[in-house]
Amino acid sequence: MDAALEAKGIEKIFKNRRALAGVDLVVPRGTCFGLIGVNGAGKTTFIKTMLGIVRPSAGSIRVLGGAPEDIDVRRRIGYLPERLALPPAWSATTYLTSIARLKRLPRPREEIDRLLVCVGLASARDVKTRAFSKGMKQRLGLAAALLGRPELLVLDEPTDGVDPLGRAEVRELLREEQARGTTVFLNSHLLSETERICDRIGILHAGAVLRDGPIEALAAQSTRWIVRFAEPIDVEGFTSNGDGNYHVEAEDPAALDEALARARGAGGLIVALRRDVPDLESILRGEVGG
Ligand code: ATP
Repeated sequence: MDAALEAKGIEKIFKNRRALAGVDLVVPRGTCFGLIGVNGAGKTTFIKTMLGIVRPSAGSIRVLGGAPEDIDVRRRIGYLPERLALPPAWSATTYLTSIARLKRLPRPREEIDRLLVCVGLASARDVKTRAFSKGMKQRLGLAAALLGRPELLVLDEPTDGVDPLGRAEVRELLREEQARGTTVFLNSHLLSETERICDRIGILHAGAVLRDGPIEALAAQSTRWIVRFAEPIDVEGFTSNGDGNYHVEAEDPAALDEALARARGAGGLIVALRRDVPDLESILRGEVGG
């Protein structure tokens, strides 16, 4: 498997505080990976080790096949920090031009124009950032991260402060990035948002990855099914809380088929059937408790 990120036993101790306690994680290239966890789990610290900003106390990490400190690796990464400090007297264009210069982009003008449109800031291109809302700052930060078409996008809370319509735009943007082969690694507290954007998830807790993998695999362990019948029924094993949906537990397809046959035998006319898939919040709660 060609990995965008391979972390083995990453530990980070700040003075006497253990922020990372042995992170093992592989993120395949081309995926959109979401790192989730409660406050203080170590998400930002881990992101900073990926970028070579924080040096691990132990363990090894490879990003895009090289070391995070390697300048050739760094120039292939786009990063949106958690709290982006923007020079208040600069316009969006000035800011992006300075970032483009730092990244040594050959034709920054076209790229900046394209990105301002992509993130929905074309009409605010000459506005000073001191007049920007939180969501506008976030969009500008995203444009800066996207400059130079990076192979890996590392986004710390990308939709923080962005309104619902803006979030849909960010989702679309990240989908386009992924479609052209970019790996996306993000960290978010907005679990429903993460669920919609990401195809793989990792749960970080107390500085270690408890579980990671495709979202469907993490959610597929549910043995609960939701059935709708044309008319109300009364069959053993089927419970309803009055909303017209019935719940039934079935360990495997045979058990499900048997339960449905019982319902049919009692006159039940099935009109809909689906697995009761837990959302990310339930998965996280199940892993870390509380
Ligand atoms: P949040 O969701 O609140 O942003 P997080 O999962 O990103 O949290 P981190 O910011 O990585 O968590 O912090 C993990 C732990 O490491 C916390 O206990 C934090 O106080 C501690 N920590 C982080 N950076 C430092 C630092 N520079 N010096 C000392 N302790 C730190």
